Amino acid sequence: MCCSFVPSAFFEQIAEDESISEGVRQEAQNHANSITKTLAAAAEAAREDTKVKTRYTEIPNGFADFNCKIWDPKTGRVLGTSYESLPGTFYSSSQDPPYEQDSDVTDCMEALRSTYDFYKTIFGRNSIDDNGLQLEASIHYSIRYGNAIWEPQSRQMVVGDGDGNSRFGLFTGFFKPGSLVTSLDIIAHEFTHGVTQHTAKLEYKGQSGALNESISDVFGSMVLQWKLNQTVQEADWLLGANIIYTNSKSLEGFMREANSLRSMKDPSATSNLFPQPDSMKHELYYNGDNTWDHGGVHRNSGVPNFAFYQISMALGGHSWDRAGQIWYAALTDNRLERRARFVAFAQLTIEHAQKLYPDDPSVVQVVEQAWKDVAVL
Ligand SMILES: [Zn+2]
Repeated sequence: MCCSFVPSAFFEQIAEDESISEGVRQEAQNHANSITKTLAAAAEAAREDTKVKTRYTEIPNGFADFNCKIWDPKTGRVLGTSYESLPGTFYSSSQDPPYEQDSDVTDCMEALRSTYDFYKTIFGRNSIDDNGLQLEASIHYSIRYGNAIWEPQSRQMVVGDGDGNSRFGLFTGFFKPGSLVTSLDIIAHEFTHGVTQHTAKLEYKGQSGALNESISDVFGSMVLQWKLNQTVQEADWLLGANIIYTNSKSLEGFMREANSLRSMKDPSATSNLFPQPDSMKHELYYNGDNTWDHGGVHRNSGVPNFAFYQISMALGGHSWDRAGQIWYAALTDNRLERRARFVAFAQLTIEHAQKLYPDDPSVVQVVEQAWKDVAVL
């Protein structure tokens, strides 16, 4: 089962922490449960290929040339289905409220289009499957749902509204309302799970799962940097920075110090809600079985994330100029196996660094050194 932006392990961790109040722990447990439920519902919808999909469709202004559909499970409710049935009904102006009044529709389309454009412009890739696959996302999923998910069977995204509330100037809940659908790094992260599904098909557990997660973070961050035209020095290298309440008293101070979910620049920093190892030798490196977070996929992804960051910084310029080219070549190399370990991916990046930049031996040296620094080689 694949692939949520916020790991259920993050919520489970809170649910099990006895130093946190009962209400918050219960809330966290609800989130953890709902991730499993969404994936099951999406898989079910994919199997049934629901008839709702054939409804009349209408494209918002400015998107006529863009092959994308936004669904809303909430409007599906008028047809007797629930907030959680997928994909939901298609937005059209005959609905109440019409999509023109819902900026989340166009925001989501905009994020999907930016991601599509990035892959097309930088790698010549035509959509998720490199064959023009229509992009589909269900937004406003469920109630106070603080996550975004890629569902591999129906090949669509599912995005919640965030679970936050503002009451008497204090924030409650984990994530800002409406923030997930407008976060380009998150939409691009989920899109990239689709790309991986159609290329290396990395199995979502253990090291191959952590590699799968890392590739989504790497390309998610790159898409955001590309959109903002940032150099590697200008980029913040954070993931999920927009969904976090900062300087607020959310959850009785629990979230107060955090400014992102993950950081590629400093994976183990406590300013990340879900700190990660920056090396195989780091104490946060997860060595347990696959029952927790599919074998630490959202945890150990910090290792290849940090290698990519180090390479990008050493090469300078834009991350997609050279580091991104090397990563994409390795991801789409058919020798990369479904159950590939970090070391196999590292070796492919070294090989492609040589092939892509034969006249500049410093590139391959930088790549090799970065993998040594994170103790993969
Ligand atoms: Zn993911």
